[in-house]
Amino acid sequence: MSRQREFFDLASRLIGRSPTFSGILVVCAVGGGSLVVYADSRADPSIPVGQGQVPPKKKVVVLGTGWAGTTFLKNLDSSMYDVHVVSPRNYFAFTPLLPSITCGTVDARSIVEPIRNIIRKKGGGIQFWEAECFKIDPSNKKIYCRATGGTNINGNSEFVVDYDYLVVALGAKANTFNTPGVPEHCHFLKEVEDAQKIRRSIIECFEEASLPNLTDEDRKRKLQFVIVGGGPTGVEFAAELHDFVNKDLVKIYPRARELAKILVVEAGEHILTMFDKRISEFALEKFSRDGIEVKTGYKVVKVTEKSVCMVGKDVGEVDLPYGMAVWSTGIGTRPVILDLMKEVGQGNRRVLATDEWLRVRECDGVYALGDCASISQRRVMEDIGAIFRVADKDKSGTLTVKEIQDVLGDICERYPQVELYLKSKQMKSLVDLLDESAGKVGGETLELNIDQFKKALEHVDFQVKNLPATAQVASQQGAYLARCFNIMDKVEENPEGPLRITGSGRHRFRPFRYKHLGQFAPLGGEQTAAQLPGDWISIGYGSQWLWYSIYASKQVSWRTRVAVVSNWLRRFIFGRDSSCI
Ligand code: FAD
Repeated sequence: MSRQREFFDLASRLIGRSPTFSGILVVCAVGGGSLVVYADSRADPSIPVGQGQVPPKKKVVVLGTGWAGTTFLKNLDSSMYDVHVVSPRNYFAFTPLLPSITCGTVDARSIVEPIRNIIRKKGGGIQFWEAECFKIDPSNKKIYCRATGGTNINGNSEFVVDYDYLVVALGAKANTFNTPGVPEHCHFLKEVEDAQKIRRSIIECFEEASLPNLTDEDRKRKLQFVIVGGGPTGVEFAAELHDFVNKDLVKIYPRARELAKILVVEAGEHILTMFDKRISEFALEKFSRDGIEVKTGYKVVKVTEKSVCMVGKDVGEVDLPYGMAVWSTGIGTRPVILDLMKEVGQGNRRVLATDEWLRVRECDGVYALGDCASISQRRVMEDIGAIFRVADKDKSGTLTVKEIQDVLGDICERYPQVELYLKSKQMKSLVDLLDESAGKVGGETLELNIDQFKKALEHVDFQVKNLPATAQVASQQGAYLARCFNIMDKVEENPEGPLRITGSGRHRFRPFRYKHLGQFAPLGGEQTAAQLPGDWISIGYGSQWLWYSIYASKQVSWRTRVAVVSNWLRRFIFGRDSSCI
């Protein structure tokens, strides 16, 4: 932080308010109605710095209070910026425990933390507005928002916020693939409210199936639970529901075991395809032992009030009657992101493309992270000529081992696919790969021309993969971006990133690198499958305890940690509660 800014912060603390927050409120007319514009909450930029004024803090606006947005806020040095947060949700939700809420294993309140608590712990100074952003205008650096909880004193619910930096962490919505009937008849499992609705719906199905004057056929239909999507969310929900029915509900609905049925419909050939084959096979085998029917190779084409209609490979249309259907087939793009993508020439994409520094392409000062964005990794082959030119310091037209070694670190940092490729070929260094390509045997001096260099690296880009849409990625990106913002001043003079291939000097920051810490698939009956780094697989009761300890440790606050652990204990002692509230 500069001396000027330190002085300014001290002054602001002494006088008890932030002199940069002048809070100019402008009301202007838009489309016949008035729109409140929070035009400039910073110091007046027209007064030159040095005439008794300190440089204004840059204004950072964060959209979203999910994994990416909250981790960014928690890690940001908020004293350096004028920070504003906009989200229709005034809390952070620990989404990996949503399936546990659907069956009452954990209470909804135990997994949420008010965002204002998180802000308060940062020492205040961060503004939160409970509103949704419906338009991003990157050319004028403004966002348009609508309050979710009513209107302000002038009867307005809409307002405009300007920014210097915009952090877009809007997540994603459930993807229905435009399948008719899904929004009307299916439950989703994306938000806390969804999980609460599912819980009520399960109990209602059991109560309705217990009413008199029903045939067994009717009761079976009421107690048929169809889950569309065999990914981690669908599988975990199926396992939770199975435990709920067979451990708790059977005690109060005596015919539950005989009448209730759980089906998982999956369009692909396997469930849990993102996991190791051993895990997906174990899950299938366990589900078949537990009586959960898995229908793979079926695509749902329509959902009506009474049935899920699906088509198999060699079978025609099959109707599955249901009492409750849950749709969990992946994620789609939010409308505000779709509009932004069209505006910045990314209309043909599924999510916002950013570079490896999480900057949205063609948008000055806009960063995107989490489920709403994906990093489009620069290919080695796009830059191969430039890499060669930078490495060839003596301009001899060939690269020596020394020249290659000088840029090796930069290449591996800028293009992580190089390291992955070397790993796949069980090689230690790029020199081994270049050696192999040039047909050299140990001892000979390596020297490569541009064609040999190209040939050696031609398959490297096949290792480029999109990062998964997970909380792990979102939170690592949030922490990374906050770190970049925190050292923005320092790296100005001493950039820390790899060599720029185009132009001279170094990039200001190191690019984002994802570190995979493993993934879990709870399969019910106190058994969990874990795939840990280094392809270490563990399935069973031991992994379930690992799951308990990791999920308890990852809670966002001590309050939620204690609440979640006590919910688990309560479930062990008393079972799950089945009241319909
Ligand atoms: P989110 O966490 O979805 O946050 C988006 C934020 O944007 C929210 O605060 C939302 O209110 C806000 N927002 C939305 N629209 C607007 C708007 N118009 N204006 C302003 N704000 C807006 N991942 C794992 O790694 N491990 C797991 O075990 C795991 N389990 C999961 C289980 C379930 C049931 C689900 C649904 C997901 C699970 N995930 C898991 C995935 C993980 O939850 C997501 O990848 C993660 O939430 C993405 O974080 P995000 O910040 O991008 O989006």
